[in-house]
Amino acid sequence: MAVTRTFSIIKPDATRRNLTGAITKMLEDAGLRVVASKRIQMTKEQAEGFYAVHAERPFFNDLVSFMISGPVVVQVLEGEDAVKANRDVMGATNPADAAEGTIRKTFAESIEANSAHGSDSDENAAIEIAYFFKPEEIVG
Ligand code: ADP
Ligand code: MG
Repeated sequence: MAVTRTFSIIKPDATRRNLTGAITKMLEDAGLRVVASKRIQMTKEQAEGFYAVHAERPFFNDLVSFMISGPVVVQVLEGEDAVKANRDVMGATNPADAAEGTIRKTFAESIEANSAHGSDSDENAAIEIAYFFKPEEIVG
């Protein structure tokens, strides 16, 4: 295994409930290091671009509205096999299916308002990191 990077979002349902620290601690406890982090208000255009792969899904418009309903914290995480480590601690998309001890099982409100995003591959992690961060904003 190699040290790699992934991209994470602490979603509006979580920032609204003041869970930024609690979720970041779960990421750190899973062996991930926060090498970039910023709290932003996404624009509609940014959210539509970020989730463009889901543009044809029935939940797309609701998802975009949710993602711009409040601030988010975008982060770059680094660690051994970071994509998998992050997705393991995040848990299944639907909190009803998520394992005990995962972020989504612990904090998610619904399948949509599920507290965290994590990239699903190294390729998409690189794309998603570049969508929100300049190289000089990442300090490993
Ligand atoms: P994940 O975030 O686990 O990679 P997806 O990439 O499939 O899941 O979906 C992106 C996001 O879209 C989810 O995290 C969730 O916020 C939302 N979403 C996914 N499926 C649904 C659904 N059936 N209904 C409403 N929102 C959904
Ligand atoms: Mg996904």
